[in-house]
Amino acid sequence: MARLVVLGGAESGVGAAVLAKVKGFDVFLSDSGQIKSEYAATLDKWGISYEQGGHSREKIFNADEVVKSPGIPQTAPIIRELREKGIHIISEIEFAARYDSAKKICITGSNGKTTTTTLIHYLLQEAGLDAGLGGNIGKSYALQVATEKHDYYVLEISSFQLDDTYDFRPDIAIITNITPDHLDRYDHKMENYAKAKMKIARNLGTDDCFIFNSDDEITIGQLDSIITKAKMLPFTQKAQLEGNGAYLQDGSIVINYNSHRSSFPLEELSLKGKHNVYNSMAAALAAKASGISDESIRLSLKSFSPIEHRLEPVLTVGNVLYINDSKATNVDAAWYALECQTRKVVWIVGGTDKGNDYSVLRGLVKEKVRAIVCMGVDNSKIHAAFEDLVGSERIADTLSAEAAVQQASRFAEAGDVVLLSPCCASFDLFKNYEDRGEQFKKAVRQL
Ligand code: ADP
Repeated sequence: MARLVVLGGAESGVGAAVLAKVKGFDVFLSDSGQIKSEYAATLDKWGISYEQGGHSREKIFNADEVVKSPGIPQTAPIIRELREKGIHIISEIEFAARYDSAKKICITGSNGKTTTTTLIHYLLQEAGLDAGLGGNIGKSYALQVATEKHDYYVLEISSFQLDDTYDFRPDIAIITNITPDHLDRYDHKMENYAKAKMKIARNLGTDDCFIFNSDDEITIGQLDSIITKAKMLPFTQKAQLEGNGAYLQDGSIVINYNSHRSSFPLEELSLKGKHNVYNSMAAALAAKASGISDESIRLSLKSFSPIEHRLEPVLTVGNVLYINDSKATNVDAAWYALECQTRKVVWIVGGTDKGNDYSVLRGLVKEKVRAIVCMGVDNSKIHAAFEDLVGSERIADTLSAEAAVQQASRFAEAGDVVLLSPCCASFDLFKNYEDRGEQFKKAVRQL
């Protein structure tokens, strides 16, 4: 019996372990930290042996193959030791895809993954196709392959999940965009991060599609690095296309696909903002490539509901609209959030800085921002970047969502927007971005 060791006992690791059990492997799961009780319960239910709080070398080095969870860095000692011993390490998606013949639509990118993935899943479902949704969101891909059966999978895939893939091949691969994020895990080299994302496309065959943002210079710069036979489906808001792809014309998204032209009016899209035009273009291209009718795509783009924590309108209080964009954990996401505001903004920003360069936001801040409320332990970079633009009396420091919302309400004038779009991770004051968004919404409701 082949022995499979899984490192990491959270969503993807436990999913991989269950799949391995179903496929008859001798499975062992090891986590250097504590395994959450819900995951431990799943392992117990499936009779999978595991350990937590450390790695027993003797139970790991006898593996035929190891599945590494995406949260474990490549520099972790156990990973280095496994590589030195020549033991093959793969990711959960690589493992799961070996046992799955469904059509796979896989989405990666720096921003817009969850929105695009959820939207494509909705487009497929509304068209009557049977599709699983997972990967980096919701249930792991491996767990679904083990316990469900679908004709399609729509999978959000992070660059960490792509790291240890070899033969993994989507039918439709999408890169939403590539902008700086998580550089700490890629030796602070943009090149390495971009290459990791491009891996999603490297095994595509002639019947497969590659959907990418041709306005994104980093993506375009990387195209030469992959030799792909796939059908290329670019999307752009800056050019008109003759061949296959998506572009803007006369207030509509136009899709050219196999000599067929479809058009979807921008005013009908349920998701607002320039960034969501990109996401809607990518999703519509994937839907066309899956054979979905224009009418079905049009209706679904119109009826899709916005996702929580992503430019989510919360409440209007005293003619001031409060918007929760807690998921904006990097500069690019906040850029799009500010860009699409049509009213003056009181901007709540701050948190754990991942090496942000705030200078690209100065133009938008000058044009749209009335006041800034910093919400973080160390706000010095935000002051340095913007204080001269808004004035020292209109920038304040706070240490909780409640204090930030109250301060923002004092700065705001009737007709303004209070926008939480923090540009930063949340770990200095909150458990995660969801917790930050929830606390923000609660504070707004208490105003
Ligand atoms: P991801 O899953 O890649 O983190 P989300 O869809 O959760 O992406 O969106 C994360 C943040 O980025 C949100 O603040 C959202 O408003 C913003 N965003 C969404 N799509 C894009 C895009 N195409 N380009 C830039 N920012 C985006």
